[in-house]
Amino acid sequence: MITGNSWMHAGLEVRNSSSKGKGVFAKEKITQGERLAIFGGSVMTFDELNNLPEHMQSHPMQIEERFVFGCKSTTPEDTDYFNHSCDPNAGFHGQIFLVAMRDIQKDEEISFDYAMVISESVGNDIDLDVDMDCHCEAMNCRKRITEKDWRIPQLREKYKEYFSEYIKQKILYETKVP
Ligand SMILES: [Zn+2]
Repeated sequence: MITGNSWMHAGLEVRNSSSKGKGVFAKEKITQGERLAIFGGSVMTFDELNNLPEHMQSHPMQIEERFVFGCKSTTPEDTDYFNHSCDPNAGFHGQIFLVAMRDIQKDEEISFDYAMVISESVGNDIDLDVDMDCHCEAMNCRKRITEKDWRIPQLREKYKEYFSEYIKQKILYETKVP
């Protein structure tokens, strides 16, 4: 199912999620490993993103320290509505594929952990530090989401194969350098 620049599994749909505005939900049972979404968009540096009007800056996906994918549009796409959870059921393969980390039941909300894609960003004259409260209601909620969360040892262990590829490479590099 193509949605703007992206693709979303036909068994998913955007619904109102009581506590978090909109979210993406399963219309049917999803099996572990199934591809849930492929994110597309325009590649932008953080500086370019920052220069867009504010209403066009929503839901960018970080793909590297300097770059994001964004939709450069005032019309959000269905794939913009995946919410964060500290106890997610979806993770990344590569940079742009979202996959089911486990079997997902009908009517469950699909979520990933921002720690899987967000790291310290680099720009010329901008300060886009990610530091926000979390109200995901998971038992293990961290209460605070930051761009440094990918460094948390327990998360590295938990999301090993589900980090976005560029973060996987950062982790690999760090563990190689003495
Ligand atoms: Zn949380």
